[in-house]
Amino acid sequence: MATATLTIDLSAIAANWRALDAMTEVETAAVVKADAYGLGAARVAQTLADAGARQFFVAIAEEGAAVRAALGPGVPIYVFSGHMAGDTALIRQADLTPLINSVDQMLRHVEALPGHPFGLQLDSGMNRLGMEPAEWSALRDIALAQRPVLILSHLACSDEPGDPMNALQLATFAEMTQGIDVPLSLAATGGMLLGPEYHFDLTRPGIGLYGGLPFADATPVVTLDAPVVQVRDVAVGESVGYAASWVASRPSRIATISAGYADGLIRAMGAAARFYDHGQAVPVVGRVSMDLIGVDITDLPAAPKSLQILGRDQGIDNLAQAAGTIGYEILTSMGHRYHRVYTG
Ligand SMILES: *Cc1c(COP(=O)(O)O)cnc(C)c1O
Repeated sequence: MATATLTIDLSAIAANWRALDAMTEVETAAVVKADAYGLGAARVAQTLADAGARQFFVAIAEEGAAVRAALGPGVPIYVFSGHMAGDTALIRQADLTPLINSVDQMLRHVEALPGHPFGLQLDSGMNRLGMEPAEWSALRDIALAQRPVLILSHLACSDEPGDPMNALQLATFAEMTQGIDVPLSLAATGGMLLGPEYHFDLTRPGIGLYGGLPFADATPVVTLDAPVVQVRDVAVGESVGYAASWVASRPSRIATISAGYADGLIRAMGAAARFYDHGQAVPVVGRVSMDLIGVDITDLPAAPKSLQILGRDQGIDNLAQAAGTIGYEILTSMGHRYHRVYTG
């Protein structure tokens, strides 16, 4: 079989949720948007519910419906994009809680689904989603009269504890919600690490659950092993791969492994990426192809049957660094061809 194997450790996800939960005095939700960061929303949401998570967040209503199918009734599932035109039937059927982002969404929601639970998203400075201070002052009394179940905002720079933007957004959020008796939420993974004043009533970790920075103490969650399809010896001066960009400067042994950019091993990682054989690093040579990658195994004592690209020796953030990106993108780019194995 030439399929690479992506192993997802569900007990590590549960352990990460419990570790994050133990860092605050308040309730800890779980963000399972984008198919739980590419790891499978149904399995992951069930695992997190078993670990103790009682509130879930997704980006769009369709994701919410999938999580509802996995979890059954009872747990709130919030939708960051709010109540979009065309979402009403799904919000009603799957009993989703839209996070209202604007006056238009507020009107749509109360007209289409009067009495249906909703939350409010405020913009405290990121300028991405939510009502800005002026819009909020105009709508505040009307919106509060409809009894929102949650009010949240999102931090732009929480992965940088020293960034002055954090304190600015905290002050803006506190000011916008002053005197309001509704549960409040500001912190994602990064915000949880900034200290108790950022925790409010509910935290919303995503990446930390899946083993990524800024939660440096996270338990790694994914392992990715790709089979070696072929091994060849190349002489000095011979090239490997598209554009003949790598040329052997010593007699070399090259393993061609079965995985490529179509599987989320993005081209940009190129020569900076490493594969591992029982802890020993071996470099990528030549360009990453759609389905194949060349690896220089000259220094290994024997040709391996497979090589590991994610696991104990190299986590999502190390690989992300080689590719000039972040762990979030490595995870959510994981392809659909992998043989997925859930453990734990
Ligand atoms: C994605 C997201 C989260 C989770 O963020 P992490 O950095 O993955 O913990 C929380 N809140 C909002 C609004 C988000 O978009």
